[in-house]
Amino acid sequence: LHPMRALFKIPRNPPPTLQQPELWSSEFNDFINKCLTKDYEKRPTVSSLLQHDFIKQIEGKENVLQRQLMEFIDVHQQMGAVSLYLYVDDLATLEVLDENTVTEQLQKSYAKDQIYTYVGDILIAVNPFRNVDIYSSQHSKLYIGAKRTANPPHIFAVADIGYQSMVTYNSDQCIVISGESGAGKTQSAHLLVQQLTVLGKANNRTLQEKILQVNNLVEAFGNAGTIINDNSSRFGKYLEMKFTCGGTVVGAQISEYLLEKSRVVHQAVGEKNFHIFYYIYAGLAEKKKLAHYKLPEYRPPRYLQNDHFRIVQDFMNNSFYKSQFELIEQCFKVIGFTLEELGSVYSVLAAILNVGNIEFSAVVSEHMIDKSNISNPVALENCASLLCIQADELQEALTSHCVVTRGETIIRPNTVEKATDVRDAMAKALYGRLFSWIVNRINTLLKPDKHLSDDGLNIGILDIFGFENFKKNSFEQLCINIANEQIQFYFNQHVFAWEQNEYLYEGVDARVIEYEDNRPLLDMFLQKPMGLLSLLDEESRFPQATDQTLVEKFEDNLKSKYFWRPKRVDLTFGIYHYAGKVLYNASGFLAKNRDTLPADIVLLLRSSENNLIRQLVTHPLTKTGIAIVVIFLLSFSSLHTDHRDTGHHPRETTSMKTQTVASYFRYSLMDLLSKMVVGQPHFVRCIKPNNDRQANKFDKEKVLVQLRYTGILETARIRRQGYSHRILFANFIKRYYLICYKTNDDPPVSPETCAAILEKAHLDNWVLGKTKVFLKYYHVEQLNLMRKETV
Ligand code: ADP
Ligand code: MG
Repeated sequence: LHPMRALFKIPRNPPPTLQQPELWSSEFNDFINKCLTKDYEKRPTVSSLLQHDFIKQIEGKENVLQRQLMEFIDVHQQMGAVSLYLYVDDLATLEVLDENTVTEQLQKSYAKDQIYTYVGDILIAVNPFRNVDIYSSQHSKLYIGAKRTANPPHIFAVADIGYQSMVTYNSDQCIVISGESGAGKTQSAHLLVQQLTVLGKANNRTLQEKILQVNNLVEAFGNAGTIINDNSSRFGKYLEMKFTCGGTVVGAQISEYLLEKSRVVHQAVGEKNFHIFYYIYAGLAEKKKLAHYKLPEYRPPRYLQNDHFRIVQDFMNNSFYKSQFELIEQCFKVIGFTLEELGSVYSVLAAILNVGNIEFSAVVSEHMIDKSNISNPVALENCASLLCIQADELQEALTSHCVVTRGETIIRPNTVEKATDVRDAMAKALYGRLFSWIVNRINTLLKPDKHLSDDGLNIGILDIFGFENFKKNSFEQLCINIANEQIQFYFNQHVFAWEQNEYLYEGVDARVIEYEDNRPLLDMFLQKPMGLLSLLDEESRFPQATDQTLVEKFEDNLKSKYFWRPKRVDLTFGIYHYAGKVLYNASGFLAKNRDTLPADIVLLLRSSENNLIRQLVTHPLTKTGIAIVVIFLLSFSSLHTDHRDTGHHPRETTSMKTQTVASYFRYSLMDLLSKMVVGQPHFVRCIKPNNDRQANKFDKEKVLVQLRYTGILETARIRRQGYSHRILFANFIKRYYLICYKTNDDPPVSPETCAAILEKAHLDNWVLGKTKVFLKYYHVEQLNLMRKETV
């Protein structure tokens, strides 16, 4: 008996036989013997086998052993038997693909620090919540140009596949990272960029450094501490790495979407403002420059007051913030911002904090009951001075507004409430525009030289919030969830196409694949003129409209089973998303969709003596909202120039021609679809194993829910519904020839031989492709049984 046969006492399947035992050296057998114990729980993963010292020690020489091991694993993975004695690296090869098996597999791998797993060509990453030693430069090397099966699953392998496909097929690539907050998306994006700069052999060290700094910089401005994640990204990010067609990295470009501007003026209980505010406070205090930037030194500015920070010292003396400030200042300099620009950035940030401190009181007089006055002129003076504008004009713009009726301009006073709204809108707009300006500036500085980028290639990395369902869901959640709905649709298309492609390539006819299609729901959102977004846009154009009339409009026009209104009286409405039902509250929808800044404020800021501040208001509104997915999809199918309104509007009127958030959706879904499937996407699905950010804690129920709504189980099911086993003719014959032939027979490797075996086994519904036998899972079970009888 072959030594390995004895080893694998496999309960359901027969032990794998190796038809040519001489292939397996005794050295290798000894190694396998040592590694594989009979104790199931102690058996190693495929990955750990490959990482074993014995295998590693011979790295560099012609690695016969590694090849043999791979062959061994390959054969058995194809037989679907690997799961029985090794933890699987690829869930799509599992014979039993139900929810339990999948979660169990993930859990077992996770317990062994194997945080990555494949489902077909999709990478699942389970957040370890601690440092695992798998990102060293040795690891990085291991994954360069390697066969996927040669190494344990890894995020570096995704980078490699993306890179190799780009170079080989001369086509742009796109990596979509999804998962809920805290699942590890941003970390994954970092790792991808890191590995891609290695692959792209940035021969220019400065460029490599710059690219690696970009994330730090935008995260200081776009990330914040939330209850869920201390470093939560509050914006969506699409980073494109630019390469020459030879594959050398030459630049980068970043797009940001849906920045959560409301966080600047208000944070929920237990949450913080954007990191950068605390960084500058600590950093400028260290440099004794708080007074210069007019930042108060005892009571925190209103926008920074919350349960974390009652006095300025709480963050001013924080050594982590101080070091982060140094780091960020360094990033700015490395990327190429000038000192003058840096000073202006600090001024704008300080101005925002001072705007927040402006307070209003009601002025009650005989004539004007609703007028408001600024009760703390110091904050007003500070703010005006930082923004290089006139204080009295700022006061004017905050406490009154112009109305034009019948060609006549009338000035109307603002109530305290209205003035407060204008104040906060100004702070939010300044921050949002500052963020976009920084991103644009980075793009200019990292833009490849024209001669390098002409007919160059790129790999885009999308790091965007996952599906959200909170106690209270507003416009932001709706946008995020529609974006996720699109990504899911895209994902389905991809899995479907991937499956279909293999069939096509093999010449197999397969109309069997069916899956849960979320397209009707997408139609409900996107259709014109009666989709939810069109209705929202239409209503946003009526000055008299209210959030109440909006919800009623939805109810009257959306004849869809995915929409409902629970109470019929309030602002609540519900949507059945692919990931579950969500209740939204329409309060503030119209204002958020209009996303306007009062014209008076815009005009005033345009009169600023500060170059940066003028720039912030002369460019069109930043793209927000729903634009995200459209732009992302368009950008990697390189169609943006045809469709996107990217032109500058230097002679914009004071009304800042309003482009609503929803109106970015002017492309038909069909048009998009046809483009989407052409591009080559790669998916990374991040999973959060528990809600406590704890290492080594795997909450099965929590994981299961995520597997369900990220469509991973669906993917597995699709694979299963199709032909779950595709075995190369040679391997198939090697394994099953005894069903039909004698021990000493040597049948030719041909489809006919395969057919003979299958017919002899009285099976039907199988298909022969060009190089592979396509089998259903039950065929394999049957074949294995029959083979057992013959051995
Ligand atoms: P998301 O972007 O999905 O909200 P992050 O990428 O910010 O999540 O990850 C949240 C936290 O989880 C990180 O700050 C880090 O502590 C931890 N984490 C995520 N991925 C890894 C990883 N691969 N290795 C170690 N820790 C990780
Ligand atoms: Mg993130």
